Amino acid sequence: MQYLAYGPRGTGPAPARPESRHEACDLGVPVRPSQGGPGEFACRLLRAREIASTGDRSRQAMVLHLAVLEHQVGRTTAAHVVKSAERASLPAAERRAQGRYPLLALHRLVGAVVSEIDRAVRALLAALPTGLPAALEQSGLHLIGATADERRRSVSGWLSGDGPPPPASAFWIVVAGAPPLELATRAVPGPSPGEWGRPACPWCGGTAWLSLLTDASGAQAGTARPCRRLVCGRCAGRWAYPLLACPACGERDPHRSRPYALSGQSWVRIDACEACHNYIKTFDLRADGAEGVVPFVDELVTGGLDRWAQERGLHRRGRLAS
Ligand SMILES: [Zn+2]
Ligand SMILES: [Zn+2]
Repeated sequence: MQYLAYGPRGTGPAPARPESRHEACDLGVPVRPSQGGPGEFACRLLRAREIASTGDRSRQAMVLHLAVLEHQVGRTTAAHVVKSAERASLPAAERRAQGRYPLLALHRLVGAVVSEIDRAVRALLAALPTGLPAALEQSGLHLIGATADERRRSVSGWLSGDGPPPPASAFWIVVAGAPPLELATRAVPGPSPGEWGRPACPWCGGTAWLSLLTDASGAQAGTARPCRRLVCGRCAGRWAYPLLACPACGERDPHRSRPYALSGQSWVRIDACEACHNYIKTFDLRADGAEGVVPFVDELVTGGLDRWAQERGLHRRGRLAS
């Protein structure tokens, strides 16, 4: 396995890339809807099926994810899921006008997510009778058996970020909670870069999980002026962020940001911060090979980058469960 640094390896900092001087640009046109934005579970499912059909290793990595997406696609049209998403998004316009963030009324989603947990656990146990990792099966059964109050506390902790549940429980809360939360985010227009340039998600307050590079028009064709969006690990919301600023600590010195890519995969890399030792995975949607890439799905088969980063003491933020 070979890794290529964009700058000289080992000694000395990587040279600043030309885009380092750009601030977050005005993203008037959204990223193509086919790239799996908030609520686009069907698009992710299609991509996951495509990847699963290409090889044994990818298929193995995708089995659980396929079952999750098949369940989530079905839940996006459930009446109470749609209704709770609408209720959560209602105050957003007023909050935005007042400069109050996050824009969503997250507490209005708690009831729907709590009731969705039971459905999610039963659906995946049925879909994967022998394929669920033991820790997930155990935590799913524990959540089903927990009191309503316990489940509400876990869901509230996930939504607020104040008391995040342990990873195995978080997996189920993410499976159950993503449809209502993402539908709520999808219903609310994002703020302009002038209104919001922070690393936290403006819709739900979550942490950035991925970073995307596109050209200024949102298309994939090559351009000299890339725009960067961060992608929320909780609601899949996407917002503009300065190209080389670290989403974890805000470091803006381009010499302290080190991008590394796996040989042969120019469309995905990690951006490591030498100031705080966190990294984020970046998808360059302008690059050759990026056609058809759906970042939330493709990132699951780029685990080699994560292992490489983690072996070097780098940490990843933004998601409690994949
Ligand atoms: Zn979010
Ligand atoms: Zn940093």
